[in-house]
Amino acid sequence: MSNSSETRIAQGLHYVDPETGSVVPPVIPSTTFARDDQYRLVGGHRSYSRDHNPTYDAAEAMLRELEGAQDTLLFSSGMAAAAAVFQALKPGDHVVYPKVMYWGLRAWLLDFAETWQLKLSSFEPGVEGSLEAAIRDGETRLVWIETPCNPTWDIIDIEHAANAAHAAGAKLAVDSTVATPVLTRPLQLGADIVMHSATKYLNGHSDVLAGALATGSDDELWRRIRTLRAELGALPGSFDAWLLQRGMRTLFMRVRKASESAMAIARHFENHAAIERVAYPGLESHPGHDIAKRQMHGGFSGMLSLLIRGDEQDALAFVNRCRVFIPATSLGSVESLVEHRYTIEGPDSPIPKNLVRLSVGVEDVNDLIADIEQALA
Ligand code: PLP
Repeated sequence: MSNSSETRIAQGLHYVDPETGSVVPPVIPSTTFARDDQYRLVGGHRSYSRDHNPTYDAAEAMLRELEGAQDTLLFSSGMAAAAAVFQALKPGDHVVYPKVMYWGLRAWLLDFAETWQLKLSSFEPGVEGSLEAAIRDGETRLVWIETPCNPTWDIIDIEHAANAAHAAGAKLAVDSTVATPVLTRPLQLGADIVMHSATKYLNGHSDVLAGALATGSDDELWRRIRTLRAELGALPGSFDAWLLQRGMRTLFMRVRKASESAMAIARHFENHAAIERVAYPGLESHPGHDIAKRQMHGGFSGMLSLLIRGDEQDALAFVNRCRVFIPATSLGSVESLVEHRYTIEGPDSPIPKNLVRLSVGVEDVNDLIADIEQALA
């Protein structure tokens, strides 16, 4: 009998400890692993936890199931996971990236590319032909995309990007943090690598910092990434890895509830007098709606942005008046958050000054709508 991913993930892949019958895996805090009298490692391949810790097994196996991946690796943060992909490239390699993406990674990449001598070309997500124009045949090694793009929620066609990358001999990596494997499975659409800030939806409770990569094939790039992780040890602690597998068990219901509520909020405020525009790929008015409908299944995520009618001060005043939404950074958790992205990103940010980002949690949606209503009044 083959159960659905939803069933398998809720049960931590039907985990039952063979010795104790425990239905949750143990935390193994040990950093080192002993050898037997033949000098073989008692537990198989691990000797030291800079490379791996058995506590990662549960979360990595669950992510393999979720993404339909051949292999997965946990990292100490989403940034560490993304950085490993770029560090696995060689000086002189050409990389294509979107102008709108998680700002922390964009800033790091621009800096790192200079030191590492990567050649960079950017493209405008949502502008037809822009991605293809940035790719150099036979020279581009990696196309990096993020969809939906944080925080404008532009949509990039993964299948189309994969074809364009592959035609030029490049790999496609997708930051799928916001879509989650519940809504989109990039490897099934032709992507080579999927990255998650597991700090967000995968864990879902604002209490773990972690990242993850998944691959469709154990190729040279992946082997370099795996070696980098083993050599540099950008790994979560075993307690965090354990919390992550626990959080992942409720991923489906959290993502579905957040997506439903975000859709209801987007619809409710779509034509509100105090709002210039609601940016949410679930709305027919969103320029990426048709692509989103094709590559996102069962919802459009719990993330949306409101462009407040007025200026930066009006947007900041809105954030200050929120009583249910908590003004804080990050996203994808059970509690709803609101953030003025321009203030956070600074003067180089391409983000409109009147944009506020909402991360919709799992609270009663009527309370969330009422909170936005009163903050706009
Ligand atoms: N990618 C996206 C889309 C994010 O929103 C974030 C964090 O906000 C990251 C990557 C970086 O992840 P982390 O904070 O776990 O390093």
